[in-house]
Amino acid sequence: MQIANTVEELHRVILETSKRDKKVSSIGFIPTMGALHHGHLQLIKKAQKENEITICSIFVNPTQFNDESDLIKYPRTEKEDALLLESINTDILFLPTVVEVYPNGINEEIKFEFGGLENEMEGAFRPGHFQGVGQVVNRLLEIVQPDTLYMGQKDFQQFSLINYMIKDRKIPVRLRVVPIVRDENGLALSSRNVRLTPDNKGKAHIIYSTLKEMEQFMESISVHELQNMAMAKFSAIDDFKPEYVTIADGYSLKPIENFQDHYYVVVCTAVWAGDVRLIDNHILKAPSDLDLFVKN
Ligand code: AMP
Repeated sequence: MQIANTVEELHRVILETSKRDKKVSSIGFIPTMGALHHGHLQLIKKAQKENEITICSIFVNPTQFNDESDLIKYPRTEKEDALLLESINTDILFLPTVVEVYPNGINEEIKFEFGGLENEMEGAFRPGHFQGVGQVVNRLLEIVQPDTLYMGQKDFQQFSLINYMIKDRKIPVRLRVVPIVRDENGLALSSRNVRLTPDNKGKAHIIYSTLKEMEQFMESISVHELQNMAMAKFSAIDDFKPEYVTIADGYSLKPIENFQDHYYVVVCTAVWAGDVRLIDNHILKAPSDLDLFVKN
């Protein structure tokens, strides 16, 4: 695996790698913030299947943290990350500094258009977060110029916004979404899970089991009742505090009133487990032509 710390190095390494392969190489790109786990690795494996060159970036983007302490506490495990990436034969690791990504400083003036998708759920609880995400993904795409971008379903609203941004800005890249990778108890893998107390980790599987259970009650219980029941269930767990449980239209991300009027329905949630904020989602109803998703 080659490691590039600067844009110049990255471009040189890409050129070398494509020459070595003696063909025009398609590039699959996986942007991450590090503290890699098997969820990230699944994105890389999908990219490897579909591309000649796979590039993973690790960059803890300061502009998407609305909470300074979350940025400070964010786990950084670069050495272990590099070993993991190497172990699955990732071609290139891009590990830039803040200055390398934002050489002209951070321009607060540029605002990204997300068609209103940014106002719901995470947007309501993390002001400024999605502008930061748009900024960094746009900039990384500019630097890496991949053919295909791989993102996880774990961050449902994030990939939805990026999908909008790609179309809106006519960025020449294809987006592929990889289903959520979970641990044996159903907890969605996340870099933040390492900060969970053993006790809270033991209870966190209730988040997914509750979302999944909703499938059975879509015919019999109203959207509002289902949301309220899930909120009550999470609130009842000692040291857990839900921020929201929203059953939303999968395209507009707007909360829905009933299931019948929508083809694509997702339930999303954010729950504090102690001082760790966990997010999760589950698709309750999917149209047959969901072409963004990579098949498992
Ligand atoms: P992060 O490092 O948290 O910014 O995540 C980098 C990418 O990995 C994002 O596209 C995430 O949605 C994706 N990702 C993180 N956790 C998972 C998971 N458990 N399953 C699938 N994708 C994931």
